[in-house]
Amino acid sequence: MESQFEQELEQLRRDINACAELSAGLEPPAPRRAKWSSAVNDYCEQFLESMDDVAPAYRLPGSSTAHDWSAVPEEGNDDIDALLSTYAAEVDGSGLNPASGGHLAYIPGGGIYPSALGDMLAAIGNRYAGVAYASPGAVAMENGLIRWMADLVGFPATTAGTLLSGGSLANLTAIVTARDAAGLKARDVENAVVYSTAEVHHCVDKALQYAGMAEVRRRIIPVDGRRRMRVDLLREAIREDAASGQLKPWLIIASAGTTNTGAVDPLDAIADVASDAGVWYHIDAAYGGFFMLSPQARERLRGIERADSLVLDPHKGLFLPYGTGAVLVRDREKMLRAHRYNAHYMQDASADEISPAEISPELTRHFRGPRLWLAFQLIGVAAFRASLQEKLLLARYAYLRLSRWRHLDLLGAPDLSIVAFRFVTPGFDANELNRSVLEQLRSDGRIFISSTNLDGCFTLRLAVLSFRTHEGQINLALELLNDAVHALTGHAPAETEA
Ligand SMILES: *Cc1c(COP(=O)(O)O)cnc(C)c1O
Repeated sequence: MESQFEQELEQLRRDINACAELSAGLEPPAPRRAKWSSAVNDYCEQFLESMDDVAPAYRLPGSSTAHDWSAVPEEGNDDIDALLSTYAAEVDGSGLNPASGGHLAYIPGGGIYPSALGDMLAAIGNRYAGVAYASPGAVAMENGLIRWMADLVGFPATTAGTLLSGGSLANLTAIVTARDAAGLKARDVENAVVYSTAEVHHCVDKALQYAGMAEVRRRIIPVDGRRRMRVDLLREAIREDAASGQLKPWLIIASAGTTNTGAVDPLDAIADVASDAGVWYHIDAAYGGFFMLSPQARERLRGIERADSLVLDPHKGLFLPYGTGAVLVRDREKMLRAHRYNAHYMQDASADEISPAEISPELTRHFRGPRLWLAFQLIGVAAFRASLQEKLLLARYAYLRLSRWRHLDLLGAPDLSIVAFRFVTPGFDANELNRSVLEQLRSDGRIFISSTNLDGCFTLRLAVLSFRTHEGQINLALELLNDAVHALTGHAPAETEA
């Protein structure tokens, strides 16, 4: 006679195997995988084929986007073509199209093909890239890519860094490092001073808040006519604060390419001030850092190698799909001290490589290395260099042509790849006019630009950073701008060109 023990074990086995059978859908057999992946592949190929000169950069949202994304079926639906149609209509069909070369707004994004394959490798193998102990190869790959970035900007061998989700998390990670390197505690926050221009990216404000430093003193250093930091006024502000006896000059944040107008602060002169005053020097190069690949831009970025910490955004300047930022800290010990943790359940983890989890807020994380490694290896860096060079030249080209237009205020020759301008046709309210021009371009949709507010002036900006933006898109953008102003005012500003 079976004991109760054996009966229970038998029942458990039956129940376990029943669950395993019901969950078999999680491991689709090869023919099913092939069907799915070929459908997704076909969709992607079609999408890429449509990326010619006229792929819309912006589509106004349709009136009836009422798809119920919360409807999760109990049983799977194998009709992948129907699902891809839904995706095409509800996701790819409206809003900004970052894959289009006509995307000249904000900071354009990328989406190079080999990165998608790299993501596939990372997802299928699901290597654990948080700690070197778990996947020495994955961590070594990412650390190698960080080493490449450090070499590119001229950081020393003592540098540590990691790939994060984007520039925002990278800035946060650097700011927390700077905070702990200065030994700032909660009680010190009110008297610590941060120096930046008003042009600094707003993620810096969020980072200070997350770092428990919302009450820190902010010194907004005025900018010059090209919206670059006035280094003389920075020096003066730090001298005043240091002399107060109460305040502690803590952190200078410079921008290597502001998001607003692409202005590059005088990085080298700021480095002199930072080192004289013993203040942490952080450079946010999320937009502009990878222009270091262009020999012409290197001179403009001189001094970048002197920062204590630096942020780069591969999903901007290296054309990667969204989800990859990078932070570098010149002194790895400071980075380790600020982020190192100890947990009993991590007692098996030890390795020679620095692990991402030791120097960032993340533990378990997306294995971001392959999307960059595979792209570099398959394409080669020369193509990236040439494309960045092309972006600089395209911005210069747009600037030169616009400089001949009538009734147009131009901010000045672009430091990098953003051109800021506004139409000032006599007899028309300039803010109204430029807002209407922007609306006109959006309803056309082939080109997508954005605007900013410069000292109360509604200003248009043309930001060139998509690898798919070439001369054709710039010509089209200028043609559409000219047509819009002509239609709105009766004057064609480009008539004076040539
Ligand atoms: C885009 C940008 C950021 C923010 O980076 P995300 O990748 O969007 O999080 C920070 N600073 C600058 C200068 C940027 O251009």
